[in-house]
Amino acid sequence: MYTRIDGKEVSAAVRENIKNEVSALKAQGITPGLAVIIVGNDPASRVYVNNKKKGCEQVGMNSFEYALPEETTTEELLELIEKLNNDADVHGILCQLPVPEHIDEEKVLNAISPDKDVDAFHPVNCGKVMTGDYRFAPCTPAGMVEMLKHYNIDIAGKHCVIIGRSNIVGKPMAMLMLKHNATVTVCHSRTQNLAEIAKQADILVAAVGRPKFVTADIVKDGAVVLDVGINRMADGKLCGDVDFDAVCEKTSYITPVPGGVGPMTITMLLKNTLEAAK
Ligand code: NAD
Repeated sequence: MYTRIDGKEVSAAVRENIKNEVSALKAQGITPGLAVIIVGNDPASRVYVNNKKKGCEQVGMNSFEYALPEETTTEELLELIEKLNNDADVHGILCQLPVPEHIDEEKVLNAISPDKDVDAFHPVNCGKVMTGDYRFAPCTPAGMVEMLKHYNIDIAGKHCVIIGRSNIVGKPMAMLMLKHNATVTVCHSRTQNLAEIAKQADILVAAVGRPKFVTADIVKDGAVVLDVGINRMADGKLCGDVDFDAVCEKTSYITPVPGGVGPMTITMLLKNTLEAAK
């Protein structure tokens, strides 16, 4: 028998705590505020931005949206970021990615003050994640750690295998797992014998971006499986990187898609905004 990790339930519990802390801060005259910048008309980005706004409202935070036209220049964006860096009502700033191709993404992310960088994408915050002494944990990996804690799943001493080495998921997840004393292996597109390595995982994290990449034969009996993948299928449905139906019976705990890791990401963004305001 396996347990299905319910990301919505964990997310609701964390948001309840955030809401209480926001009320306490408001009583001292501080309302945490998140500025979200979106450039262009990407429909998926629009959905994410709306969800972030809704999340802020739900926990009593202010949200400030800056929807800029597709033709916005890097310089114009940098000017706005500078203004927000100096705005005392704004505690967190994020620029929804991807930005249009003509914009220098690196310059933009580096311009956000590390003190307001609630996505933890600034090199200073990436460095802090590396040393284990961080203020803002990257949202998706932090959400996974929160889920493991909620279900009282031990991390220390466990072998955590992460498939994927992106800067926003795979690499920071490796750092967070190390901080929690796991033994960590990171696999990627050039890894040899991936199946053999994955099969040794007590905790297996799939952040590949390929539907049903993790099949039952590469999962150890009793493993905890965390599925980060969000893949849109031809029928419009979402599918994770794990073949859930085939894998679930082998696991002790597993996250579904949708309803697993996904709901946690925005919740951790709200948590980081609260930390910034504090
Ligand atoms: P990415 O494309 O930046 O990285 C994918 C990684 O997978 C790379 O490091 C690559 O080396 C590895 N990879 C690709 N093919 C492989 C193969 N055949 N064998 C082994 N490794 C392989 O993706 P990302 O930004 O890390 O996102 C991964 C998935 O997670 C995507 O589906 C994305 O939509 C999803 N995602 C979800 C959330 C969330 O909130 N749930 C957040 C971020 C990303």
